[in-house]
Amino acid sequence: MKKWILSASLLLLLVACGQNGQVENEQNSSSENQAEENDSVVEEDEKEKDVPVSNTEDPKKEPEEEEVADSEEDQNEKEKEDSGNEDQVQEPSPEEPQYVVNPTTSALEPIGDANSEVVLLTIDDAPDWYALEMATTLKELGVKAIFFVNGHFLETEEEQGVLKTIYEMGFPIGNHTMTHKSLRQLTEEEQYEEIVLLSDRVEEITGERPRFFRAPFGTNTDYALELVKQEGMIAMNWTYGYDWETDYMDAEALADIMVNTEFLNSGANLLMHDREWTKDALSDIVKGLQGKGYEILDPDLIGTEDDSVETE
Ligand SMILES: [Zn+2]
Repeated sequence: MKKWILSASLLLLLVACGQNGQVENEQNSSSENQAEENDSVVEEDEKEKDVPVSNTEDPKKEPEEEEVADSEEDQNEKEKEDSGNEDQVQEPSPEEPQYVVNPTTSALEPIGDANSEVVLLTIDDAPDWYALEMATTLKELGVKAIFFVNGHFLETEEEQGVLKTIYEMGFPIGNHTMTHKSLRQLTEEEQYEEIVLLSDRVEEITGERPRFFRAPFGTNTDYALELVKQEGMIAMNWTYGYDWETDYMDAEALADIMVNTEFLNSGANLLMHDREWTKDALSDIVKGLQGKGYEILDPDLIGTEDDSVETE
């Protein structure tokens, strides 16, 4: 009798702990330890303040993604509607999120006793040349990543077909705007079009609107963040990435730094791109991260605090 109760509760505990059955409370690795700069004037060109970019190179010169830790204070009051698509290709959003994105650092933080030793993989500026091959590699390795896509890569039927394939392989599609312009240089109306029209396009192609948003160059505006929230998306920048730096435009060097950087820690949000050397390094990166004990986070487990609480 007692035994029965014991094992039943053990079972419950296991279920509650999710796939890893690990109970770790070491999250918080990177919560508020960085000065927050809500709205600070981090212009596209001077952003290195609290960004854990590579220390080795001038972080200013990435052609593409620049870092900014823009913060959005809280993600409360989102109005998420999970409605819309009855396409049961896959679960649109998690029933019960186990992780949230820290709005200041973009690190992933476990809710409750979810495994804290996780890292998130993200692939931006897709689907350009290598996204499908990268998705295939990830799928073979049994891990997921968010593909942040741009509208200018979704013009032709072929490009749209690639996106649909990646989506159907089980990868969440994130919104990276229509044309990858810096939002801070756009009017609100233009920002709206950059963001909402891309979600429309992704939905036309896959049947599901993106749940995640990443601003080009990591430069957000208050307007865009509010809009993103209204659109039911979770905004994130990243905690580190290297593939746009000259020294790491090489598969071996990239695989090495991605796994051995000092910025690799619990909840790290890894930025990569649809690039040849990244594609070539991807398998080694994943295996290296796993070899260090990190679980590659399933983005479907990411939600907002609100999702996990019974409000109202
Ligand atoms: Zn980008």
